[in-house]
Amino acid sequence: MNARHARADEFVQTAKGKIDVEVAEAFLSDHIDSFEKKEQADERSLCGHVEVTARGVKEWGWEGYNPGGAVQGKATDSRMAANMSFVARAGHPCGADFFAADFLEHHPEYAWQKPLLRDMKAGPWTTFKAGQKSSE
Ligand SMILES: [Zn+2]
Repeated sequence: MNARHARADEFVQTAKGKIDVEVAEAFLSDHIDSFEKKEQADERSLCGHVEVTARGVKEWGWEGYNPGGAVQGKATDSRMAANMSFVARAGHPCGADFFAADFLEHHPEYAWQKPLLRDMKAGPWTTFKAGQKSSE
């Protein structure tokens, strides 16, 4: 998690003074692995993808390929917050889908999670606001 913290600090420093909702979406979707110093979605990227790495996250007791990581993203700015609004995306903030059956086929060691493991089909970044009806 220190690698994610280092990348978060680096990202914020480069975006300082120009952070808006679009930049926040990019932050949440970021795939830079600051330890490997390359773009690579994994447990070290801000958009966490533990399910793709054999390393897992030992500090959390997660073995390799644990189906965990970033599962949604949300952002707002002062204007949106004043209007009780925010943007959000279900699934990995980068838009990558997760399909439980495909995952379990490749990682039967997690079959015990089958009753609870759900597909995580990423939707688009979507604006939500207080009082919104489902048809809006
Ligand atoms: Zn991602």
